[in-house]
Amino acid sequence: MGNRRSFLKTSGILLAASALPLSSFMIPQRKSKLGVALVGLGYYSKDILAPALQLTKYCELRGIVTGSPEKIPIWQKKYNIPDANVYNYENMHTIANNDDIDIVYIVLPNALHKPYSIIGAEAGKHVWCEKPMAMNVSECEAIIQACNKNKVQLTIGYRLQHEPVTQTIIKWSQSKPYGAINSLYAEAGFYNRASDHNNWKLHKTLGGGAMYDMGVYPLNAVRYATGLEPISVSATHEYTRPDIFTADEITNFNLEFPNGITAQCKTSFAENINTMKVDCANGWYKAEPLQYYSGVSVQGSDGQKISPFQGNQQAKQMDDDALAIMNKTAPIVPGEEGLKDIKVVEAIYKSAAQNGKRIPIA
Ligand code: NAD
Repeated sequence: MGNRRSFLKTSGILLAASALPLSSFMIPQRKSKLGVALVGLGYYSKDILAPALQLTKYCELRGIVTGSPEKIPIWQKKYNIPDANVYNYENMHTIANNDDIDIVYIVLPNALHKPYSIIGAEAGKHVWCEKPMAMNVSECEAIIQACNKNKVQLTIGYRLQHEPVTQTIIKWSQSKPYGAINSLYAEAGFYNRASDHNNWKLHKTLGGGAMYDMGVYPLNAVRYATGLEPISVSATHEYTRPDIFTADEITNFNLEFPNGITAQCKTSFAENINTMKVDCANGWYKAEPLQYYSGVSVQGSDGQKISPFQGNQQAKQMDDDALAIMNKTAPIVPGEEGLKDIKVVEAIYKSAAQNGKRIPIA
């Protein structure tokens, strides 16, 4: 009887409970969308990321961090951002107390990536950090360490590694449809009008220069196309407007990879260039444009063509990264990937400072 009574009691509770909404249980609920705070509201945040965050399924724009008070009402109105989710650089650490925000996306001048990524990590927020990850290897390591210590995810904004045509190139590094790679040529740059001579992208102090801005694209591309890490580099800088640029305006860099593979690369603020050609044992393929926000396509020596992805690159990138956080899986572009590029960038600057001396990459 005792058993039967306790069974009825328990099943009664279960019956009553089955009529309750799932949220009545104290089971932690998985959020359907993660909240993103954009840190730095310049060109890329304003024109590209905030609009892309209107297209995402697994994350949304919920907060801003800015040092420009005049931008606040405009962003609040446009994106319905409450006062409680607006921060400046001095109080950004208090974002720790805001459950609305799960992720801080660092979209600042390159020399500020490290300090603000670390503030975000210390506040217990996942960190998305724009490319280039930071100024040098030790800054990258400090960001990785802060994210590990605070058990938050770190991903770097290499949008192309989320882009389907580029993902085919990445797969080809293993499947080698044109045979073993012999050599690569990759370049990315644009004519920077440099109308504001004080803009940080022209000067070294905050991490300006063509190499940090555009050079990481051909560098990342020859790394993902080969699936290999370079063993040495030789680099030079060139200037068409030495009166304006204190950072590099043009950088040429030649990489040596294992198996005798070589890559000739160029980045520039003086001309519009955007391509990668990969010469292989049984033919070649070309990615052109290599890194535009849309239209990336591939054609091969056999007539094969891969048409451009029709979606929004940045929305896909942010949804992939939000899902990695929700599912506790490894992100597509972890901090270590940003670090690998910066290790080479450090060697590139070192070589250029010594007139193109060959620098081994340890
Ligand atoms: P930007 O100059 O337009 O914006 C930078 C923002 O940082 C501005 O709003 C500025 O007010 C703010 N800021 C805060 N402190 C500052 C300081 N001390 N000095 C100067 N500005 C300060 O630059 P952007 O083009 O938006 O680039 C920002 C980051 O995004 C860079 O790391 C860049 O490499 C990256 N980016 C990535 C892509 C991509 O395709 N993944 C494209 C563009 C830019």
